[in-house]
Formats: sequence, C-alpha cells, structure tokens
Amino acid sequence: MIDYQMKKLRMLGKRYARATAMAHNEALNAFAKEFGFVHWKALNDATKGDWHPNDEDVARAEAFVREAGAKTGPVVPSPDTLFFKEPKWEEGELCGHAYKIGDCSGDVVVTGKGWDLRVPEAPFKAPIVEIDERHSKTSPVKDSRFLAKLIEIAQVRSTRIRAQMAVDWPRRSTKADLDGVARHPLRGGDAANWYCHSCDAQITGSQVAENYWHCPNCGTHPLNIHAEPFDDQFPGEPVQTPDTAQRENPEVRIVEPRHTLHLDEETVSTLIRCALLEDATSVNERLGAMRAEISLLDGEEVWITFDEMLWPEEKEPKSALAVAAKLGLELEQEISQFSEPFAWPELGSMTVETAEFTAALLKAYERYGVIKR
Ligand SMILES: [Zn+2]
Repeated sequence: MIDYQMKKLRMLGKRYARATAMAHNEALNAFAKEFGFVHWKALNDATKGDWHPNDEDVARAEAFVREAGAKTGPVVPSPDTLFFKEPKWEEGELCGHAYKIGDCSGDVVVTGKGWDLRVPEAPFKAPIVEIDERHSKTSPVKDSRFLAKLIEIAQVRSTRIRAQMAVDWPRRSTKADLDGVARHPLRGGDAANWYCHSCDAQITGSQVAENYWHCPNCGTHPLNIHAEPFDDQFPGEPVQTPDTAQRENPEVRIVEPRHTLHLDEETVSTLIRCALLEDATSVNERLGAMRAEISLLDGEEVWITFDEMLWPEEKEPKSALAVAAKLGLELEQEISQFSEPFAWPELGSMTVETAEFTAALLKAYERYGVIKR
C-alpha cells in the first residue's frame, strides 16, 4: 500500500512536470514542498524513516496537479533545486590503486577493485568497508594506513554533502543556542531535549544538531527525531555521543562477490517457470506454469507439480527440460489437483489471448456467477 502511494506520488510528479513544463527534478522538488519537505530527496529520505504518503496526501497531490494544469506559464523553480544534482562519480588513485568516489543517497561511497568503503550520512556512524571474499587476503584496504587515507578522502566529500544539505536549514538546526535549544530542520519546533522514535534514545539539542539530526545512538533519519517521546510513560534514556574511537573505527566485512549466482531452489524455479511459460500455448497452460509447484530435491532434481485442470498431463515441457539440462539437473513432473483460479477451466484451454479469455470469463461470471470489485 505504502509502495502504491509512493508510486502514485511519483506518477503525479511526472504529470505535474508535464503540466508546468518544469524539469522533472524541479517538479518533484516543488511537489515535496507541498508536503513540508525542503526538496524531493528529503521526502524520499523521509520515507526510509517513518513518513509515508497516505490517501489524503495523494489526494492533495492530485489537487496540486489539477491547479498546475489550470495555470498558464511555467512555475519559477526555487534556488533549492540548485543543489539537487545527479550523483557524480569521480575517479582517483591512492598508492597506485584506482578508485571511484561518489554519493549514494547521502552516503559517500568509494569503490575499488574488490572493495567498497561507505561513509554513512549520519556523522556519528562508523565507516563500513566491504571486501570481496576473493580479495580478502590481498586487498589494499586491509592496510590500515591506506584505509585511513581513504576514509579521510571520503570524509571531505561527506562534509561537503552535509553542508549542501544544511544550506536550507535554519541556523538553530545546526547549532543549538546557549540553553541547548535546537530547531528541527524539516518540521520545525524548538526544544532542548529530543527523542528518537526509532530506538527511544533521549538526545540533547546540541548533540542532535551536531549530528545533523541523525540519532547519535542508532543513526536514524531526522524525521524519526521528535520533540515528544514516543511513549510519555517511557521517555527513554539519555544517550552518549559515540567517542572518537568508536566512530572512527571502520567496520570491516568480508562479503560475497557482487555477482554470485546461487543455484538454489529459488533461482532454479525462477528459470524453470520462465521456461514453462515459453512452453505454454494456451491461457490455461500459462496459468498452469505460473501456479505450478517447483522444488529442487537434494540439489539434483527439479520436481514440478502441475494443476491437472491447467496443464495437460501428456504435454512435454521442452524448454523446461532444456533449462534443467543446462543446469545439470534431472526433471520430474506430476499432475495434482489444486484449486484452479477461475471457475469453468475449459474457457482457458481453448483460448490463447488473455484479453479474449478475460472477456469470456467476465461474460460467464455475469451470467452464472457474481463479480465483485
Ligand atoms: Zn535512535
């Protein structure tokens, strides 16, 4: 549902762009402002936290698009959009090792041969290093001096991104006053004590301002930081800002290569099902392919169970057999009784086109059954 509303919002953003002749990004930014966000990225980031558009928001967006359509002439873009740029990758070299550095939704990512370094957007979060297991012994990031220099490079960029982000924020949001009062940069409100609704930490105004409104305890997004505790009865404990050692010590992980094919049941059945759809010639057979149960037994044999009403017992799934052969697997099939998706299964065995089948189906249900929406 949330996903649907987000998609709907994006679609409306596109319509808005067409209606106003604004660039897509600018339209989305103008849109986001309607919902109280400084720009589209802030809105998107917020959906990673606890904000999701509801039906009312979608209705508001629709009204907004209608109004835009009624207006003549383009809307003037705001200067905020100057900072809404496509992620840019730069190339560099350190101690003879080539790398690329760029931004990925607020995080800075440096990537080299078989390794990645990520400096999270939340300033108090430790950098994360991932090393491809094939390079786990030889990777240059295993050298702590090399890694320290790399982190330094990434942090310069990270600081720049934060500065860009905070350029629209009120001064009280990046620096608390003498009483420790800070202002929430996205939804406003002044307070000396703030509460993380993600981990229930109590945070001081200066702490949260210094951390660009990410929780110093769990690193969550600014929109999870509220002036009121989530539960008045349990306001949570004050948290310490991680000390320098904690936030500077990178977390090193050895990971699987990015392109690893796991020939497990999920992959095998996806490929087999795809082939079955190729083998299917009627609507019923396609439905049968979609609904067949496919299992992988002991990593050696693919077992397909078809619905007897949908897949003809004597039919040989040629493509599926070919796929199984490529994967070095045996293929067994059986027919069993399921509950077919629609009444009158014979309708689908005679039809090839889904539209034609749908029409016949609607007619039959209208006549002999009930259609509910
Ligand atoms: Zn937290």
